[in-house]
This record gives sequence, C-alpha cells and structure tokens, in this order.
Amino acid sequence: MYYSRKKPVGDYEQEMTAIWSCTQESCNGWMRDDFSFEVVPTCSQCNSPMLRSMKSLPVLINSSYGNKMGIKKMETKL
Ligand SMILES: [Zn+2]
Repeated sequence: MYYSRKKPVGDYEQEMTAIWSCTQESCNGWMRDDFSFEVVPTCSQCNSPMLRSMKSLPVLINSSYGNKMGIKKMETKL
C-alpha cells in the first residue's frame, strides 16, 4: 500500500485534533490536548472551564514542543 504522489503537498497537513475549547461564548480561547489532564483545565484567558472538542489543525511534527509548553502552563498554575 502506498499513497499517490498526486496528493497536493501543502505547507501543512491538516488533521482533526483533540483540543480543549473555552465554554465562554465571547472567548475564543482553546488549547491542544497533547497531554492528558486529570481534571478539566480552565481557560488561560477568562478562567472558564474548558470543554473537550475537535479542531482541524496543522499536524505537528515535533510534538514534544507542545508537551513542554503544557507542562510549563500547568506548573505556573500550581
Ligand atoms: Zn476563555
């Protein structure tokens, strides 16, 4: 099995990704769900609880960057 090379090579491939999105309608805060939370995270912009959702995002090649960012965020919150 192989994929056709006719597939357009875009700058970024988009993929449906699990995210957390803010429940506040006036707020467009969201973050990637690259790491597992034990509790529902709160929005960094308005502190509203966040809801699990899906979003079409460019595929990350280096996912460790996102993980690092997430851990940093968690630490500052604690
Ligand atoms: Zn928010």
